[in-house]
Amino acid sequence: MAAGLRLHLCPRLRAFAAASRPLFATAHSGAIPLPLRRAGPAMPLAACARRGLSSSTAAAPPAEDDDFATAADLRFEPPLQVVKYPDPILRARNKRVNTFDTNLRTLADEMFDVMYNWFLYRTDGMGLSAPQVGVNVQLMVFNPAGVKGEGEEIVLVNPVVYKSAKRLLPFEEGCLSFPGIYANVMRPESVKIEAQDITGAKIKVKLSGLPARVFQHEFDHLLGILFFDRMTMDVLESVREELKNLEKKYEETTGLTSPETADNYKGTKDVFSFSR
Ligand SMILES: [Zn+2]
Repeated sequence: MAAGLRLHLCPRLRAFAAASRPLFATAHSGAIPLPLRRAGPAMPLAACARRGLSSSTAAAPPAEDDDFATAADLRFEPPLQVVKYPDPILRARNKRVNTFDTNLRTLADEMFDVMYNWFLYRTDGMGLSAPQVGVNVQLMVFNPAGVKGEGEEIVLVNPVVYKSAKRLLPFEEGCLSFPGIYANVMRPESVKIEAQDITGAKIKVKLSGLPARVFQHEFDHLLGILFFDRMTMDVLESVREELKNLEKKYEETTGLTSPETADNYKGTKDVFSFSR
């Protein structure tokens, strides 16, 4: 998720990010700021979405060995490049990770570098998911402060949402895979999540405010869902031409036909339904 204009033009956000309580800093000391009791077996949000639920206690689908990323899936070459819409990499399945080694740590470090580095990459983000740098695995990095050396750097692996607030809030989002596009997206104001950290240790926490917003945007990437999938028709209309410009650019630079076209998008009335 891009901070971009929001961080530069909106000091409110910066103050908000600074005032946010640490998310995971104390998670391993047993003094998690918002300790959660497990509400039931975790279930991917995608499954909730298919069932039209905002929260669920239904069982997660059984894990299969072929869901896990291989060494080849986790291979990357620095410097990483941001994958832009409509590259099909953004819609590909992202495998779960079960190897927590130095390679994974290096990937997360490189992703933070891409996320922050405006001068090299023209990025200025608060969050980044692995598929956005061409690695189709369930890994995200984020820092709601959006600035290196400020806020808190969070790496989440294999995240699942097991409860979402019923209350939805609008918020203007950007995305590093959609340079220059900013628009309102409705999302639950808080989510309860489970994930693993970079060492593989389990994390369970409630996120709200800006961290919940950034997390949900990046979590969608891990499900192959892009932020315009969650825009209402009128909001989508305001960015449709810009999406088509990105498609044109993709066709010019790759010589390929765009795998999707904004002409077909119909917007959504419901945060858990999709335009495609
Ligand atoms: Zn994004």
